Amino acid sequence: FEALEAFDPEISSVLTGELDRLRGGLQLIASENFSSPEVLTALGSTLSNKYAEGYPGRRYYGGCSEVDKAESLAIERCKSLFGADHANVQPHSGASANQAVYGAFLKPGETILAMSLPHGGHLTHGTKVSFSGKWFDAVHYGVDKDSEDIDYDEVERLAKEHRPKVLLAGGSAIPRLIDFARFRAIADEVGAIFWVDAAHFIGLVAGGAIPSPVPYADVVSFTTHKVLRGPRSGAIVCTEQHRAAIDKAVFPMMQGGPQMHTIAAKAVNFKECATPEYAAYTRQVVANAKVLAQGLGEHGIRPTTGGTDTHLSLHDLQGVLVTGVDAEARCDAAGITLNKNAIPFDPQKPNIASGIRVGTPCVTTQGMGEEQMRTIAGLIARAVVDGDADPEHPVSREVRAQVTDLVEAFPAYPRPASA
Ligand code: PLP
Repeated sequence: FEALEAFDPEISSVLTGELDRLRGGLQLIASENFSSPEVLTALGSTLSNKYAEGYPGRRYYGGCSEVDKAESLAIERCKSLFGADHANVQPHSGASANQAVYGAFLKPGETILAMSLPHGGHLTHGTKVSFSGKWFDAVHYGVDKDSEDIDYDEVERLAKEHRPKVLLAGGSAIPRLIDFARFRAIADEVGAIFWVDAAHFIGLVAGGAIPSPVPYADVVSFTTHKVLRGPRSGAIVCTEQHRAAIDKAVFPMMQGGPQMHTIAAKAVNFKECATPEYAAYTRQVVANAKVLAQGLGEHGIRPTTGGTDTHLSLHDLQGVLVTGVDAEARCDAAGITLNKNAIPFDPQKPNIASGIRVGTPCVTTQGMGEEQMRTIAGLIARAVVDGDADPEHPVSREVRAQVTDLVEAFPAYPRPASA
C-alpha cells in the first residue's frame, strides 16, 4: 500500500477515503457487504495477470497449472455448498451470469416470464433498457395488491397464456420467501425451463437460513458479493442435463478470459460460507432484518408485505409524507447509506419513488444484533421524518453523532490494535 501511496497519491487517497466512508457510517444497502481480508487478498493477487480462456484442463493458453487449481477448487466448493450437479464460476457479474442463461436457453425473440422491475424484479429480467428486453419477448408478473407478495395465480395464468420458454423467479426487492415448488409446478405445466436468479438471497441459502432453490430449479444464477460476502462477481449452478449448455454460453458465447483472481476469491468465499460461523451470521442477518423492518414500522415507515423473511425490507414512506429520493438524501446527510426504491403500485416515478429499501448484511458483518437494529430504526426515522439533506442541519448532526457512536462500537474492518 505504501508503494501505491508514493506513486499515485490520488488513487491511494480514494482507497483510504472509501475505507473511511465505510467505517464512518451505517451501510444499509441490501446488496452490499464487507468481504473478508482473505477474499480481498486473493482479489489483489497476481492471478489477475493470467489469461485462461477455456475451463480447467481444457485451456486455450499455456501456463494455467496454478489457475486450474483455483478454478477447480471454486467449482467443487460451490457444488458442495449448494448441493448442485454443476457449477460455472466464470461469470464476471450477476448481469453476465444472467446473459449466459439467456444464451443457453433462448433464441432472440423467444419468450421469458419474469417478475416486473417495479414489483421487485431486476433490469436483466426483460426490461426494455436491457439486452434482455431488447432481444427477448418478456412478459411480466407482479405482486398481489393486498398481500404485496408474488401473485402466483397471475404467474400461472400468464404462463398458460404465453407458454414461455423460460420461467424466471427472483429479483432485487423481494422481502419474502419464494415458493419454488409452486414455480416448478407451473414451469412443468407449460414445459418451461425454471430459472432462479438468486443474486440477493443466495448467501442466506448458503448459510442455511432460508430454503434453497437448487432442488427445484433447472438453473440458478447469482452474484457473489451480496449476503454471500465474496468478491464482486457472479456464478451459475445447474443440473447435469444443462451443464454443457451453460458452460458454452458463459465461454465462448458471452465472455472471453475468466478473471482468475476473482475466481480464486470466490473459492476462498465458498470455503468461508461452509463454516458454522457463516451459518450463524446468516441467521443473524435475517433476525436483524425482521427487527429493523418492525422497528421502522413502529415509527410509521410501513414495511411492505408486513415485514421480511430475508435480509431486506422495503418500506412505504407515504404515511410519513416523504418521498424515497428525499429520504435517501436525508439519511445520507446523517451518515446512513440506503437507497430509494419503488414500492409495488408506486404512484411516483422511479427516480422519485415512494419507498426505501434497507438490508442488514453489512451491519451484521460488523457484529450488530437486534438491540442495535432497534436503535437504527429510530435513527432512520428521525432522519427521514425530521431531518434534511443538508449535513449541517441540526437533525443531520444529531443523528450523525449517534451513528458515529454506533459504528465506533461495531467497527467495519477493525484497525489492528497497534494502528
Ligand atoms: N440479478 C439480481 C436479482 C440483482 O439484484 C443484481 C444486482 O443487484 C443482478 C442480477 C446484477 O448483478 P451485477 O450488478 O453483478 O451485474
